[in-house]
Amino acid sequence: MKINNFFPSIWLGEFNDKEQYDAGQADRRDLYSVLDSIDDRLLISRHGFSLKAYCASCLGITPMQVTWHYGYANADGSIHPAWTETAACEQCGLNSRMRAVFDFLLRKTDLHRFSRVYMAECTTPSFRAVRKLWPEVVGSEFVGPEYLPGQTATIAHSGENVRHEDLTRLSFRNGEFDLVITQDVFEHIPDYHAAFAECARVLSRQGMLVFTIPFFPALPATQIRAAVLSDGSIQHHLPPEFHGNPVSSEGALCFQNFGWDILPALRSAGFREARASMYWGPWQGHLGFPFFVFSAVR
Ligand SMILES: [Zn+2]
Repeated sequence: MKINNFFPSIWLGEFNDKEQYDAGQADRRDLYSVLDSIDDRLLISRHGFSLKAYCASCLGITPMQVTWHYGYANADGSIHPAWTETAACEQCGLNSRMRAVFDFLLRKTDLHRFSRVYMAECTTPSFRAVRKLWPEVVGSEFVGPEYLPGQTATIAHSGENVRHEDLTRLSFRNGEFDLVITQDVFEHIPDYHAAFAECARVLSRQGMLVFTIPFFPALPATQIRAAVLSDGSIQHHLPPEFHGNPVSSEGALCFQNFGWDILPALRSAGFREARASMYWGPWQGHLGFPFFVFSAVR
């Protein structure tokens, strides 16, 4: 595997808590205004367009397709593509946040430490990309509550047979993995504290959890959008929001908007360290407001 080290790092900072993040905010505001003006010059059309950049999964320059799917208007009325969800590499299909996870693994961890890898997805371009690094990677999907963890389940709309797992009660042994990867999954799990604890349980000592979530850096505490009541019904505190789901055309309900309290929550769940790593870099197709990859060490 040959990484091109001429490309500057996309990692702008690492934070162990909100205080650390807030301490640099005043200085970072100048940076944000520059990033904003780059977006202003780049987003000259309402149509999708292609951007040439370095893909951390393909390890080469590829065209990346920027679309306005999930685009939104800010409180001030300015419009933005959902940058984390777009700039998908035409070759491997990974969007900005998925490629950032790859770059994190390549440049911020010692890859050789990891041999037993679990990924909480298995029908996606990201899984196929991770399998190139670790051919033995174990992958799963949450197919439905009618299946038992570890069972082979059939995805209704594709007919594909996959391993079913529930992150709040995994079928794996204690310490079975060195690396666990989840991408935009925890927001769909009402008891995400239990999911953090399960990820810690199946990791070996020094093992690492690497994940992305929709994250709201202005929120000190996680905002609960929906909760499951004791009778199994769902109580909505905010308008229901559904995200794409590889195993269902109905999408998956988003239960929470994560804030900074997830770092102490990870530590309470059995991790020694937990941090948020902030990235941005047009040379790798990461634009807009800097976003984060999270990691926690057992
Ligand atoms: Zn690629």
